[in-house]
Amino acid sequence: MSKAMVDRFGRIHTSLRIGVTDRCNLRCRYCMPEQVEFLPRAEILTFEEIERVTRVAVRLGVDKARITGGEPLVRRDVSELVARLAQIDGLDEIALTTNGLLLEEHAEELKRAGLDRLNVSLDTVRPDVFRQWTRRDELARVLRGLDAALRAGFTRIRLNALAIRGLTEDEIVPLVEFARDRRVEVRFIEFMPIDADRQWNEKAVLTGAEIRKRIEQKFGPLRSRSRPDPAQPAADFELADGTRIGLICSVTEPFCEQCNRLRITAEGQLRNCLFSQQGWDLRSLLRSGADDDALAEMMRACVAAKKRGHGTDEPYMLRPDRAMYQIGG
Ligand code: SAM
Ligand code: SF4
Repeated sequence: MSKAMVDRFGRIHTSLRIGVTDRCNLRCRYCMPEQVEFLPRAEILTFEEIERVTRVAVRLGVDKARITGGEPLVRRDVSELVARLAQIDGLDEIALTTNGLLLEEHAEELKRAGLDRLNVSLDTVRPDVFRQWTRRDELARVLRGLDAALRAGFTRIRLNALAIRGLTEDEIVPLVEFARDRRVEVRFIEFMPIDADRQWNEKAVLTGAEIRKRIEQKFGPLRSRSRPDPAQPAADFELADGTRIGLICSVTEPFCEQCNRLRITAEGQLRNCLFSQQGWDLRSLLRSGADDDALAEMMRACVAAKKRGHGTDEPYMLRPDRAMYQIGG
């Protein structure tokens, strides 16, 4: 059972993204409609089930897990899940992606539970723009959450900012200044065709190259930093003062060749790509009393079926039937 998860293109899968809920306390326009029918609780994997899946994945070579959603911090006691995962031998890093709203309450317990890394999604530092995009007037809470996380001792916080043409150009410079002041890294992410309202079109992609140009016009040349992990999606740069900036060019420069990720959705479907049309029903297997070997076999089958690329650059690409919050962004 210790055989690694390798796909047809030789990619070894060592990273597991765990969706813990499809619920959220924001309604970012690009991600979630205002009225949403959430999954019934009974359909969501329990912490015991998630822990078991992760243990099996670790035996198959996974060494990093990222907890996401929906908004992972709206799931009650998520730090208990972190603590369970932190006990797993061989899992070297546990990370969590959050909108930051509940960090003020939870940062310390997450740190204590053994969370290694935090990514906080923040597309703007202007309250009115934040309210317009997320449909909630909560920027101040996010900023307090971020400060709480810094105080709790999270040192490698990254801000993730989505970039959409016609909308976010004016946010780039203030976000870099904000990140510089807080000594955190900021990464800009190209808009992907996996939005709730199907508003995506190629023209809406504000490209990494354009973002770079804007940053350099204001702050001077960006120096490339070497990538500690070749599978990481961001191209890493820094300003002369050491401020770290990442560009995730998922659309214009897909990083599928290095992709090492396997996903499990909140309701226990395995997915081998954000853009996959297919899910593998691990929950049924779990709840039918299957043994770990059977779970491992399904994980391997899912990875084996992975396509070469996500295909967003292909004209005939089929868009997934789900938005990011339903898969686990
Ligand atoms: N709620 C958490 C948060 O916002 O950080 C975690 C889940 S959210 C789906 C994860 C990330 O997906 C966020 O940084 C968000 O900006 C990003 N995202 C959502 N829809 C996207 C899209 N269509 N293209 C690119 N990124 C997207
Ligand atoms: Fe919620 Fe994150 Fe989606 Fe925004 S991007 S609606 S915070 S899940």
